[in-house]
Amino acid sequence: MVLEKDILQNNLDKLISSIEKSRLKVNPHHIVKIVVVSKYTSIENIQTLYSLGQRAFGENQVQQLKERALELENLPIEWHMVGTLQKNKINNLISLNPSLLHSLDNLSLAQELDKKLKTQNKTMKALLQINSSKEKTKSGVLVEEAYNTYQEIEERFKNIKLQGVMSIGANSEDKNLVKNSFEDTFKVYEKLKGATICSMGMSSDFQLAIENGSNLIRVGSLLFK
Ligand SMILES: *Cc1c(COP(=O)(O)O)cnc(C)c1O
Repeated sequence: MVLEKDILQNNLDKLISSIEKSRLKVNPHHIVKIVVVSKYTSIENIQTLYSLGQRAFGENQVQQLKERALELENLPIEWHMVGTLQKNKINNLISLNPSLLHSLDNLSLAQELDKKLKTQNKTMKALLQINSSKEKTKSGVLVEEAYNTYQEIEERFKNIKLQGVMSIGANSEDKNLVKNSFEDTFKVYEKLKGATICSMGMSSDFQLAIENGSNLIRVGSLLFK
C-alpha cells in the first residue's frame, strides 16, 4: 500500500517523540538510531520516508534487499540486513555491501561468512544475535554463551567486524518477560570491549528496549499504517 506523505510524516513524528521520552529516561546523551524495516512495505513508501530524512532501512531477506538496493541505488541509503541469513545467500549479501548484518546467529555461519569475505578481500560489519527470550522459533546464541562466542568470532574471523549485539524481545504480553530478555542482552553488551551497537526493539516494544539500553531500534509496521 502506498501511503500519503503526510501520513508517513505523522507516523514518523510520533515515533520520534516517543523515542525521545524513552531515551531521556536513560540519560540526556543517550542517542537512539532508527532503522526502518521495510520488508512489508512498498518502494514508494521508502522513497517518501527518505524524503522526510530517514536514511537507514532494513530488510529480512537477501533477495528483497538486493532488488530494493538496486532500484534505489541513486539514493545514499544505508541498508541493513536484519533477518536470518542462509548460507547459500552469503555471496549475494556480500555483493550488496550492506552497512550492517544484524543477524549473525551462530559460529558456523560466521565461519562461512568469513571464508567468503576473505576470498573477495572484503569485510562486513555485523552484530551477534542473542536469543535472550530462549524461544525455539528464534535464532541466535544463548545468553550464557554469547560473550564467549563473540570473543571467538573476533579472534578467529578477522573479516567480520563485530559492532555489538542484536536481540528480538520475547513474544509475550508479559512486560516483565520482555524486559528481562532486553536486560539479559544488555548485560552481555556492556561487558564487550569496543562494542557500540545494541540493536533491540521493534514496533511493539521499542520503548521498553530503549529504557533497557538499546541504542538502535528496528521499526516497521508502526510506520506503515
Ligand atoms: C520485521 C522485523 C522487524 C520490524 O518489526 P515490526 O514489528 O514490524 O516493527 C525488526 N527486526 C526484525 C529482525 C524483523 O524481522
